[in-house]
Amino acid sequence: MMGRLDYWTIGEQLPQTLQHFNTKHLNTFPLPSMKIICIGRNYVEHAQELKNEVPTEPVFFMKPDTALLPKQRAFYIPVFSDDIHHEVELVLKICKEGKHIAEEFADRYYDQVTVGIDFTARDIQQKQKEKGLPWEPAKAFDHSAPVGEFISKTELKDLNKINFRLDLNGLMVQQATNELMIFSFAKIISYVSKFITLKKGDLIFTGTPKGVSRVKPGDHLEAFLEGKKLLDVQVR
Ligand code: MG
Repeated sequence: MMGRLDYWTIGEQLPQTLQHFNTKHLNTFPLPSMKIICIGRNYVEHAQELKNEVPTEPVFFMKPDTALLPKQRAFYIPVFSDDIHHEVELVLKICKEGKHIAEEFADRYYDQVTVGIDFTARDIQQKQKEKGLPWEPAKAFDHSAPVGEFISKTELKDLNKINFRLDLNGLMVQQATNELMIFSFAKIISYVSKFITLKKGDLIFTGTPKGVSRVKPGDHLEAFLEGKKLLDVQVR
């Protein structure tokens, strides 16, 4: 069965009948939902640029499915923030349900990879951090999680060394491979699944490398995986 995410990430419009259903019966949307789990502070130099401690265990938070940005749509800077940052990240798509997944079997639980942007209201996040409050207002807002075209992991030569980058207005601003991660894909999947059952269609944002910065209306963001452009976002 095709999920809501599939509609949104492959850029198709919802069928007319479902569009009608969606607006008339918003609370009883019939398609299965999914969740987005995001890892924070997974690259040493990014933790340092935000003056955070390097964690000894994965830090994670969540975004709802309403954080997805429908394909071909622009990202509008929300009214509540003056400091929205881009954070480019490798994104995994979970392919089967799992709980308490052992690290050694974790690779079986995702089958596709892409790049995504974890848009962050840094001004709000800073206030929340200072007060010890949850990050959701800074992280989970609508359209804060644009996700690129997925590619099968079988197409990638080395899953431990995936090169990705973000260009801002044609200039590279973030670049890394997941070799630089503090916690590997396997560690992340194993750790998160101790707390939360992972289900088919869920996404995991695996953390951003250094180079985050503010976006402004008119900016053009392009994210690449192994040199291939998988995501294109206009900021308005
Ligand atoms: Mg992030």
